[in-house]
Amino acid sequence: MTLDTLRAEAIDLQGDTVALRRSLHQRPELGNELPVTRELVLESLEGLPLDLTLHQTTSGISALLTGGKPGPTVLLRGDMDALPLHEDTGLDFSSKSEGCMHACGHDTHTAMLSSAAKVLSAHRDELPGRVLFMFQPGEEGHHGAKFMLEEGLLDVPPLADGTESPVTGAFALHITSTLPTGMVATRGGACMASADQFYIRVHGAGGHASEPFRTIDPIPIACEIVQALQLMITRRIDVFDPAVVTVGRIHAGTVNNIIPPLAEIEGTIRTVSESTRAKVHEHLKRVVTSIAEAHGATAEPEIVLGYPVTSNHDQFAEFTLDSATQVLGSQNVHRLPNPIMGAEDFSYVLNEVPGTMMFLGGTGPGRDPRTAPANHSNLVTFDEAAMPIGVELYAQMALRHLGVQA
Ligand SMILES: [Zn+2]
Ligand SMILES: [Zn+2]
Repeated sequence: MTLDTLRAEAIDLQGDTVALRRSLHQRPELGNELPVTRELVLESLEGLPLDLTLHQTTSGISALLTGGKPGPTVLLRGDMDALPLHEDTGLDFSSKSEGCMHACGHDTHTAMLSSAAKVLSAHRDELPGRVLFMFQPGEEGHHGAKFMLEEGLLDVPPLADGTESPVTGAFALHITSTLPTGMVATRGGACMASADQFYIRVHGAGGHASEPFRTIDPIPIACEIVQALQLMITRRIDVFDPAVVTVGRIHAGTVNNIIPPLAEIEGTIRTVSESTRAKVHEHLKRVVTSIAEAHGATAEPEIVLGYPVTSNHDQFAEFTLDSATQVLGSQNVHRLPNPIMGAEDFSYVLNEVPGTMMFLGGTGPGRDPRTAPANHSNLVTFDEAAMPIGVELYAQMALRHLGVQA
């Protein structure tokens, strides 16, 4: 089998890739229940030699391609869900669902993964192993990957002759408007951050604003907590294993002359290692409860766990950088100097199977990726010319992981 023809095969499929992408773009859906999306994906996979599993707890689809030769299984992930915002791109295939938009490019991921399934199916006989296509819902904070893992995503059956064919590698890509079309970026180690939420309720005692000594005013206590959390980051967290704590909402009171009984604070915690993540949780709880106690109030910090750190396995990251270099040339492959502080639920997959998450440039010629509207913007658009590159990358990494040489 030659890897040289993959680009041509991906380009031949561009009509299908664009058509699916635009259908998905017009019918975006949120969370883990994506019935229309699932139907469109199943339609696009019709006639391919895939063993399909329709997940029960979510709209996830796993599709297993068994090659003509024995070997392990490689997982390719594409996420399918959209975001709750109004689309203002003016594209003629803009969202038809009010308040819902494919603003993170997951429509392109799904379409690229479907076309990769077509390319790899065409080479089925020569394939030394299997490819597990993971079409997942609920990436945007709904833990879709976790639900698919819990439902047995990785429990692939043995081959027909009884030999095991475990999942030995997992790859995902994410389109981004911050890179030009034709460019790929990733890194070994932490690639994306963990993202946890915290909610703090400072309970004081309300009263008249003119007589604070008769009350326990939760507002200055809340202010002190907000400041102390930043102090905690600079004094207690290793600068080389950093963390971000941001208070995104603070709420207390009703009018100028009442001291309210309660102040509420909420925010996000980002880290790039699980050890710092645990430290931030511990320090945050102590700082919050102790400051409240110091002023005679009480505070309950609640931490809601979000996605873990997305950690690329070093060897797999090198493999991915090398594969991308073969596809795009070294000038178009960027080794990220730092992790991205956003989060990804592909982290759950990478906690089970070694692999790589990578970024695919999606801003076309004539636009500046530094100023183009970002992923999650109501104005973000993605260059469809990036899609054959993504299809080729998916197929190429699967084949090379299974041992097919150039
Ligand atoms: Zn997103
Ligand atoms: Zn995304």
